[in-house]
Amino acid sequence: MPADNRIEIHPSLLQKLHRIHRQITDLHGQIARCPRQIQAGSNLVQEGEEQKTAAQASHKAAVLACDAKQLQLQSREDKIRDLEAKLKTAASNREFSLLKEQIAADQQANEVLSDEILEGLEYIDELSQNVQDAVQKVERLQSEQTERVGEVEKRQAELETELERVNQELAETEKNVPSTAMDDYRRITEARGEDALAPVDGESCGGCYQILTTQLIDRLRMSLLIRCPNCNAFLYSPEDRQVR
Ligand SMILES: [Zn+2]
Repeated sequence: MPADNRIEIHPSLLQKLHRIHRQITDLHGQIARCPRQIQAGSNLVQEGEEQKTAAQASHKAAVLACDAKQLQLQSREDKIRDLEAKLKTAASNREFSLLKEQIAADQQANEVLSDEILEGLEYIDELSQNVQDAVQKVERLQSEQTERVGEVEKRQAELETELERVNQELAETEKNVPSTAMDDYRRITEARGEDALAPVDGESCGGCYQILTTQLIDRLRMSLLIRCPNCNAFLYSPEDRQVR
């Protein structure tokens, strides 16, 4: 780029421009995170709601199963009463002992069923506690989310104000870019943002680590505009190493 030879540009201007572009990238990143934080919180609420629905369904299923067993117990008790009535009218010893056996078998089955019902009731208590816990968890998540949304929206508004300020600072600072360099500067900053500028790190480009020729370094020392031959960035000596 022979035209570069004649463009003088103060390294502190490039350093400042680089600092502002980095700040803009950072602010854009922080602003982009805001809706993601809100979305993450809303996913947590959604998960909590799903857990609550699942807990309620398990509870309901256990109650229905226990109700069915209680009905079964009831009808078998009715049956036992019928059999006991028949005992009195048994026509033979054989019929009598058959009825006795059947009653004994039904009573045994009912004992098992009663135990199952007791266990079922304990299980229902446990599940009903789960439902309560899930309901409380959803309430907590919802209130945390409301708080989060408020905080994040406030933060996002602050970041946007800050971005506006920094964009104005950029526009002000860009007025000092030599007009002969302006087209190149615009093209590369629009395409690459903060990577359009890079400090020289020792003898290499701080952006892509390309080793720079002595000739380029000499031109840099004369405050002439140079660009990295590899990544095309506008190069500058960081302030603490500027040779004037
Ligand atoms: Zn480079």
